[in-house]
Amino acid sequence: MRPLADAQLQVLDTVPRLPIVANLLAESLGLVLAEDVVAGHDIPPFDNSAMDGYAVRAADVESTPATLTVVEDVPAGSVPTQAITEGGATKIMTGAPLPAGADAVVRVEDTEPGEGMVTILTGAPVGTSVRRAGGDIGAGSTVAQAGTRLGPNHLGVLASVGAATPLVYRRPVVAVVSTGDEVVPYQTAQLEPGQIRGTNGLVLASVLTELGATVLDLGIVGDDPNALREVLARGAAEADAVVTSGGVSMGEYDLVKAVLTELGGIEFWQVAMQPGKPFAFGMVEGTPLFGLPGNPVSVFVAFEQLVRPALLHMMGSAQLFRPRLAGVTDEDVHTNPDKTVFVRVTLRWDGATPHARTSGGQDSNVLSALASADALLVSPVGSGDLLAGSTVELEMFRHPEGRGLAER
Ligand code: AMP
Ligand code: MG
Repeated sequence: MRPLADAQLQVLDTVPRLPIVANLLAESLGLVLAEDVVAGHDIPPFDNSAMDGYAVRAADVESTPATLTVVEDVPAGSVPTQAITEGGATKIMTGAPLPAGADAVVRVEDTEPGEGMVTILTGAPVGTSVRRAGGDIGAGSTVAQAGTRLGPNHLGVLASVGAATPLVYRRPVVAVVSTGDEVVPYQTAQLEPGQIRGTNGLVLASVLTELGATVLDLGIVGDDPNALREVLARGAAEADAVVTSGGVSMGEYDLVKAVLTELGGIEFWQVAMQPGKPFAFGMVEGTPLFGLPGNPVSVFVAFEQLVRPALLHMMGSAQLFRPRLAGVTDEDVHTNPDKTVFVRVTLRWDGATPHARTSGGQDSNVLSALASADALLVSPVGSGDLLAGSTVELEMFRHPEGRGLAER
């Protein structure tokens, strides 16, 4: 059996990078920057007020109360026309440019307005409530580095410097194919004997969407070599990667294996992981093809360990793997020392320490226990059974809201 780490390395060594494109910023969430983005100007672009109040010379308000002449009113979006000289003040709104000569802003709460004048009740040393030009980002500095996977706030920073069409690795199109004569669309109201509703296609489409891929749903294909050949060829031609479920184990009807062998370049691996041992991988006409097992939990775990990192690599990310935390198991966990075992667990937090319990049955068909799990407890090769109270590694695959009204 192939160690999981070797399988991961071989996949990552083989998959190509996606092409680099200039992309609309609003359509770049989750994509990876292919260039350093440099600020063409300061942010903020000009000295401005951090408060609604009066722009003053700090020297004029050293002793208070001090009465100053109001020379003009500058709301945000307009520009001061008059410099402040001794004894003068400008009424100013948050975000408005500071007039020449002013070096501090007194909050409106610390003043008393009069007719053409204002009484300053509290002094303001130089720089008070002033946001300096370039105080956030200096002109010429790098605001986001190549390799950054763009989150909402990265998009905001790029927007602030006018990077409206950054260079990113193109969004991948990933074809999803479910196989099996017993598998019918999940919308089927009445199952015939021997049928099951397909869940893998929907779960794969969902994790792919979450990852930032565009899904090409190629539906369910029966255990028929001609139909399989056709759909895989279509996936390879139209998508950047193809993910299949089912048909890669040892059974007589595991035809994905036969068809893939025919297509060439595909290898079948027994990866030393549990669940998710049978796995097919290779390149079809330059397109990576990932053949996942059929059992729903195996599908998810194999996707997490082998497909998700590969797609992130294709998308240009240097960060490929989920974070792992040290935690404590609250129950004995049975493991298999020959494999990396991924145990589906729910977490209870004791301060900063996560405590894990199995989320239900651990057979690879028990999707319900995966749905309620927060993390995968990782038992490495060579590990014996893990006893309650021992320290374990937890791979975090979702971060649900953990606090309600009562826990604020
Ligand atoms: P296979 O690897 O094709 O032998 O499938 C292994 C198990 O997974 C069988 O019990 C299948 O019925 C089940 N299975 C295969 N495809 C799906 C699917 N799309 N949704 C849910 N279960 C599936
Ligand atoms: Mg099958």
